[in-house]
Amino acid sequence: METRVRFAPSPTGHLHIGNARTAILNWLFARHTNGKFILRIEDTDPERSVEEYIDQILQDLRWLGLTWDEGPEIGGECGPYRQSERLEIYQRYAQKLMDEGNAYFCYCTPEELEQMRKESHARGEAGFYNRRCLHLTDEERQQFIAEGRKPAIRFKVPDNSEVIFNDIVKGELRFETENISDFVIMRSEGIPTYNFAAVVDDGLMKISHVIRGDDHVSNTPRQVLLYQALGFEMPQFAHIPMILGPDRTRLSKRHGATSLDQYRLKGYLPEALINFLSLLSWSSKTGDEILSIKRLIEEFDFERVSKSAAMFDFEKLNWMNGQYIRSADLERIVELAKLYFRAAGYPVEDESTIQKIVAVTREKIETLDQIVDVARIFFQEKITIKDTNAKEMIRLDSSQKVFWSFLRKLREIDVLDRENFKEIMKSVQKETGVMGKNLWMPLRIALTGQMHGPELPVTAEIFGKEKCEMLIERAIFK
Ligand code: GLU
Repeated sequence: METRVRFAPSPTGHLHIGNARTAILNWLFARHTNGKFILRIEDTDPERSVEEYIDQILQDLRWLGLTWDEGPEIGGECGPYRQSERLEIYQRYAQKLMDEGNAYFCYCTPEELEQMRKESHARGEAGFYNRRCLHLTDEERQQFIAEGRKPAIRFKVPDNSEVIFNDIVKGELRFETENISDFVIMRSEGIPTYNFAAVVDDGLMKISHVIRGDDHVSNTPRQVLLYQALGFEMPQFAHIPMILGPDRTRLSKRHGATSLDQYRLKGYLPEALINFLSLLSWSSKTGDEILSIKRLIEEFDFERVSKSAAMFDFEKLNWMNGQYIRSADLERIVELAKLYFRAAGYPVEDESTIQKIVAVTREKIETLDQIVDVARIFFQEKITIKDTNAKEMIRLDSSQKVFWSFLRKLREIDVLDRENFKEIMKSVQKETGVMGKNLWMPLRIALTGQMHGPELPVTAEIFGKEKCEMLIERAIFK
């Protein structure tokens, strides 16, 4: 049977990093099995769904490179793929459940329900709905209608039974129906609840595997009951353990960025995020950490999905992103870096210089936004040495000797490049007897104002002979 999986975001905010992980795992599984990845927008909550978030989520998914086979914008056999366009379908299936005695109108008001909830809590019960509306007489019903009450529809949970399902990640899970109250499937405004709409859609869209975060485990028994009552084939469930922050509490804003677009803006590459987020719940047999998308697709397997919660290690993500930035096509990183340079007011017209700057500075960064700071030395008008150690260092006798010697040799050449820079350094070392840190650091400070930075010979090449000459002269007279 063909694998059909879905990612079903609710457009109530930006795409959360945890949901992005869910999307990625679904997508990897679909691609691994040559199946279909379906995108469905769960926008039935009119108060919380925002149109702009739909566009944003689609954009985020596209940016990650997760292409869907059916869904908004491209359609498919089981559309429409926005729940707000499927209301008639839910109404039809709710009617079917009513006709078959598996659902009933509930006229209770919010106040009455609140009262009921209090009473059942006082008795120490888990489920609170007392089934008043299951047993209404015709008179009572007429009375409610006359009062203008609009009914919701409740599902009639079978008595004294057990819901058992086998979760691919968590194993067998069992729930007693006595702990599940008759729940609302259609609100009085004719809008389905999440549990109902999800089951109708997963059934009609022939979803074979429901892969989602384990915060949905508690919804699953209700959904299983609905599958059974609707006569849909049950998908397999895979509930993925949640993501924790470094302090082992649920990942939240306190720990750092939580929405995918924040990561994009900071300059994480999509393939780094895919790699990192995949490894949060899964590991490769080989133990390799850097895995191309091709390998992730080839190797993805539920056998290796972890049963315990994953910790979001920001340092590891940064390290990984740095690796991807360095190994990516230079042209691509140049284009991305230009966005940050422009925002910082750096001129980007000189293509070949920008290329050189990006090539040398990308070695020093883990996120693309850091390139602005590392590359500042190439755009600053004037050098100010802030660090007192640096100030002291250039005033040392040995440093001044190095500057004089370097300057003389620099004046002898026409064009400075990384190779003859290294040659000059060698002969400065010979001439002055100064070496190692005492040789290189003063020059770095003289040229950039800083004690650390991108590779010095390349930096000097980008500056060019004249600028280097001028900067060293200044360091001499300081
Ligand atoms: N719209 C739900 C959510 O975003 C989907 C849950 C599911 O995958 O069933 O949490």
